[in-house]
Amino acid sequence: MNTPAPGGTRVLLVEDNEVNRYLAQYVLEQAGFVVRCAGDGAEALRLAAAEHPDLILMDLRMPVLDGYETTKRLKADPALAAIPVVALSAQAMPQERERALAAGCVAHIEKPIDPTRFAEQVRGYLKPRT
Ligand code: MN
Repeated sequence: MNTPAPGGTRVLLVEDNEVNRYLAQYVLEQAGFVVRCAGDGAEALRLAAAEHPDLILMDLRMPVLDGYETTKRLKADPALAAIPVVALSAQAMPQERERALAAGCVAHIEKPIDPTRFAEQVRGYLKPRT
């Protein structure tokens, strides 16, 4: 289980719910990821442009700018389009997943996250390092 993430792998965690954010951040940091957090889509766009993370975890329902629109904007920016975006979608809402993939997400992880599997799931969506 808790094998370290490739050294210094940087994840931008976009989530407006404080409890969800805290848990996801904790689990990822325990697994060796370097985690930055954003609480809404506008902040996510700003941090993504400034820091070029290796992967973005994207909540879908957020204030200011939701996860769908935020993902579309990331994918429309040639400087950011290559960063994999993984949606965090509510278990009970299968239609969220299709919308997320249509917006440009590479995959989705269901919430509530499973703390015993989450880091491994995230690791699976990293691009191989060149
Ligand atoms: Mn939310």
